[in-house]
Amino acid sequence: SNRPYIVGNWKMHGTRAMLAEARAIDRAAERLIKVEVALAPPSTLIHACRKEANLIGIGAQDCHPADGGAHTGDISAAMLKDAGAGFTIVGHSERRADHGETNVLVKQKAEAAIEAGMGAIVCVGETEEDRDAGKAEATVGEQLKASLPEGEAAAANVTVAYEPVWAIGTGRTPTPEDIAIMHRNIRAQLVEVYGEAGQEIRILYGGSVKPENAVELLSADDVGGALVGGASLTAESFLGIIIAAA
Ligand code: 13P
Repeated sequence: SNRPYIVGNWKMHGTRAMLAEARAIDRAAERLIKVEVALAPPSTLIHACRKEANLIGIGAQDCHPADGGAHTGDISAAMLKDAGAGFTIVGHSERRADHGETNVLVKQKAEAAIEAGMGAIVCVGETEEDRDAGKAEATVGEQLKASLPEGEAAAANVTVAYEPVWAIGTGRTPTPEDIAIMHRNIRAQLVEVYGEAGQEIRILYGGSVKPENAVELLSADDVGGALVGGASLTAESFLGIIIAAA
């Protein structure tokens, strides 16, 4: 799809009191048909959000790579799908950092999600140290190489999110030129891995996207949308970004 894809990642925020925000986002998105909108609430709210929302996509923030089994506290892709998730984020830098997730595990999770019939948003991004050392492109290239899902259905169901770690929750962002350079490299790699199908895969930008900077960030070359954290928590600010994308 050529519509910009704006995805809200609620992270570990949200109780049922926040369902009103999901409902308000959904109602407004009905009038903004030029933009594809989705929310990834905590897994406890997936089912309720799916019931609240008619139009927007609802997804998860992570999944376990196995179909099921003795994995206390974990949730499989099939369970998330059953709860109403149409996609899941995998490999977010917070999971890579908090839970030591490796590229190999991220790839297994993406493949499990696709196997279960969901989309997978694979997150990559360099740290500030990587960027200062001139290694931003190489780091993201390595992450992608090892974490992109394989298989027949992979290219049609994967989305890539470029989220520089130093831009997440900091109010700092790369320039549109920096984003364009990174997305051009990611695109080249997607075509290398998936052939022509790699041209169609959406590449989102994430990291301190707000209503005030959304037009600029989304205007960078080959930005197919945004993965939004803090500014997706209220309908008011998330809609500001969605309107900027329309
Ligand atoms: P912020 O928009 O809060 O910087 O978070 C970005 C992010 O990590 C989305 O996945």
